[in-house]
Amino acid sequence: MKRLALHWQILIGMAAGIAAGYFLSSFSWGTQFVINWIKPFGTIFINLLKLIAIPLIVASLIKGVSDLEDIRQLSRLGTRTLGFYIFSTVIAITIGLLIVNLVNPGSLIQESTRTELMTSFGTSAGQSMSVAEAGKNRGPLSALVDVVPDNIIGAAGSNGNMLQVIFFVVFFGIGLILIAPEKAEPVKRFFEGVNEVILKMIDLIMLIAPIGVFALLAALVAESPSPDIFKALGVYALTVLSGLAILIFLFYPLLVRFFAGISYGDFFRGIGPAQLLAFSTSSSAATLPVTMERVEEHIGVEKEVTSFVLPVGATINMDGTSLYQAVAAVFISQAFGDDVTIGEQLTIVLTALLASIGTAAVPGAGILMLVIVLESIGVNPAGIALILAIDRPLDMCRTVVNVTSDATVAIVVGKSLGKLTAPRPKNWDDNF
Ligand code: ASP
Repeated sequence: MKRLALHWQILIGMAAGIAAGYFLSSFSWGTQFVINWIKPFGTIFINLLKLIAIPLIVASLIKGVSDLEDIRQLSRLGTRTLGFYIFSTVIAITIGLLIVNLVNPGSLIQESTRTELMTSFGTSAGQSMSVAEAGKNRGPLSALVDVVPDNIIGAAGSNGNMLQVIFFVVFFGIGLILIAPEKAEPVKRFFEGVNEVILKMIDLIMLIAPIGVFALLAALVAESPSPDIFKALGVYALTVLSGLAILIFLFYPLLVRFFAGISYGDFFRGIGPAQLLAFSTSSSAATLPVTMERVEEHIGVEKEVTSFVLPVGATINMDGTSLYQAVAAVFISQAFGDDVTIGEQLTIVLTALLASIGTAAVPGAGILMLVIVLESIGVNPAGIALILAIDRPLDMCRTVVNVTSDATVAIVVGKSLGKLTAPRPKNWDDNF
């Protein structure tokens, strides 16, 4: 019997998780039951995905970089990748600003709602602010220094140091290009083999994806705050969501259609499972192994490109986060009764670009960096208390955009370098 396509399995897992979360939390013991007996399976699933991320980057990037014929090709890949990432993020922020100026959601917030939210979420906001402050008092070049590790085992010991690992591996790959081919060959073949093994491990992990997302969404629903808050912040949430929808359903598909001739349907069938995982896990880093697998094997971008563009993108390219930060900054400012001038909006473009680059690819990181955007336009950062309650669902949606944007740039850069071939002869709908 033909098995159901992976994206359907994941969607069913998600729907069943939401239903189970609602159902169980209607009992007095339900929430605790979900936390004790269901949530751990979601955590195991995310851990498995994260477990694979660093080995995958190492194996596929060494192979990818060493397959480039010379260093010039590498620098072309690097500059195009960064160029497209900055371009797409600036577009995202601009769309966010246009919509928030059109809708003005902050002016609809009642005085009473504002006070209530500030009181209920003030403490959590304070905690987020101190985390953001801790990272702020550093020199202007500290981000650059952070990219160069002083110990590779230490760097590879944390998923948060992805850029350091990428730096080491690209450096290693350059060495590999420069040595005699007969010496380089066995090293390349070794990592090629490792890469195949890891791709197979991803296939195996994805077999339990429906159970993983079931557990993640059941826990999310059981632990979520009361629906009243969603009503108060509904217009703000809709503003963010409509901006994200423009990116997902118009901007990216049009870009890949125009630059790479990939149809709407093929694009979404290709990366759909990665998008669904991004939604369920709220983490571009956890989704990375699947994004790489999908863009390579189901869209046909060659490894030389995906192995560099996608891990770098997961770390620094966050269109969804930057759009959300722009909307949230204007919303909070308006809710406090201040108008945001054109000059301040330009400041938002710059700081949201930088803040999204600095945002870690994990759940809830975007709201920490929002503190920096708020401070740049002179708004009290305690204002994040206003939006904390509905941050998680928005985080899930902006992570989908972050991942889609990485995939789009990989396709466009791949095409521009002649490294987009037909995908492996697989049925689109089959399971890995
Ligand atoms: N969760 C997002 C991501 O992993 C980052 C954010 O919080 O905006 O891409």
